Amino acid sequence: MPSINPANQILALQSGSKSGECAALRKELSVKFVQELRLPYAETARQLGVSTSAVNQVFLRLARTVLLILLFMNILSACNGAPPPTITKNSTVMTEKQHPVNPYFSHTDTTSLTLSDAVWKEVLSPAVYEVARHGSTEPAFSGKYWDYEGKGTYSCAACGNRLFRSDAKFASTCGWPSFFETVRPNSVLYRKDSSFGMARTEVVCGRCKAHLGHVFDDGPAPTGKRFCMNSIVLDFEPDKAS
Ligand SMILES: [Zn+2]
Repeated sequence: MPSINPANQILALQSGSKSGECAALRKELSVKFVQELRLPYAETARQLGVSTSAVNQVFLRLARTVLLILLFMNILSACNGAPPPTITKNSTVMTEKQHPVNPYFSHTDTTSLTLSDAVWKEVLSPAVYEVARHGSTEPAFSGKYWDYEGKGTYSCAACGNRLFRSDAKFASTCGWPSFFETVRPNSVLYRKDSSFGMARTEVVCGRCKAHLGHVFDDGPAPTGKRFCMNSIVLDFEPDKAS
C-alpha cells in the first residue's frame, strides 16, 4: 500500500521527485497556492521543490488553455448562429454609469469615508459588496480587467478613490489585474493578513477601506511590487482623447 501520510507527500514534493503522482499533485497545489492564497511564484516553487520558471510554465499553460476554451466557445456560437458569449465582461462590475445609487462615489474627494455595513450593502452591487466589505476573492481569469490594456485610471469601485494608472499595469499570468505602483502613496492602506497560516499584506482603499487584494514583492522594476487586485472592486475611467 502506498503511503497517504500528508507529511510524506510534502517531503516527496519538496525532494523534487518527478514521479507522475508528484507532478500531478505539484501542478494542482501550484494553482491553489497562487490562485487561492496568492503566494508569489517564487514562494510556491520553494514549497513544492521546483524552480520558479516551472511554476510560471504551469500558469502560462493554464492561460493558454483558458483562451483556447473561450475561442472554441466563440466558434461554436458562431456555428450555431448565436451571438458569442461575453468572455471578458463581468456584468456585475460597476461602471461610472451604474453609480447613481451610490452618492458617496467621487473621483475628487479623498477624505476618509466611513459608512455602516447596512449603507454599503445598499449602495454597492452584491458582487462588489462581497469583495469590498467581506474580503472575498474573485476567481482567476474571471474579472473584467486581468488582461485589459486600455489607457486610463483605475479607481475604487466602492468610493471612486483613484488607485492606479494604466501605465503601472503589467501583464501578469496570475489571472488578476496587476500593478507595480499606486497613483499616490496614500491611495491605498496596508494591513497584515495572516489567514490560511500565511504572512501576506492586504491592500485596502485609502479612502473607504474596501478590500482590494494583496501586494507582493515579486513585481517588475522600478518598484518590485505586484499589487494583485480584484477586477470587481476596480472602476476604469478611460483617458479622454486629446
Ligand atoms: Zn474606496
